[in-house]
Amino acid sequence: MLVCAHEFGHSVLKAAGGISLSWGHKGTTGVISQAVKKSTPGYPTSGPIDLMKYYDDKKQKASFSQLVNDSIVSEKDLMRLIWLSRIQWK
Ligand SMILES: [Zn+2]
Repeated sequence: MLVCAHEFGHSVLKAAGGISLSWGHKGTTGVISQAVKKSTPGYPTSGPIDLMKYYDDKKQKASFSQLVNDSIVSEKDLMRLIWLSRIQWK
């Protein structure tokens, strides 16, 4: 389910911010190489894990249960999805 959600998130990021936002995993990977950047942090030791970012697991790994329980859609990405839906509030 995490993989499906991540892949769906790519279509949201691409539509809202273009290929560099989407394929670049919000600045955490190279757009073409998909390799994590030197500046990409490891997984947080606790707290939310952004579904659409890559983390450098050589710096800090995450357990399977941490990935399942702590992965989130960021508020900004949720706003992007709502914006793309063109919902009109009255
Ligand atoms: Zn991806």
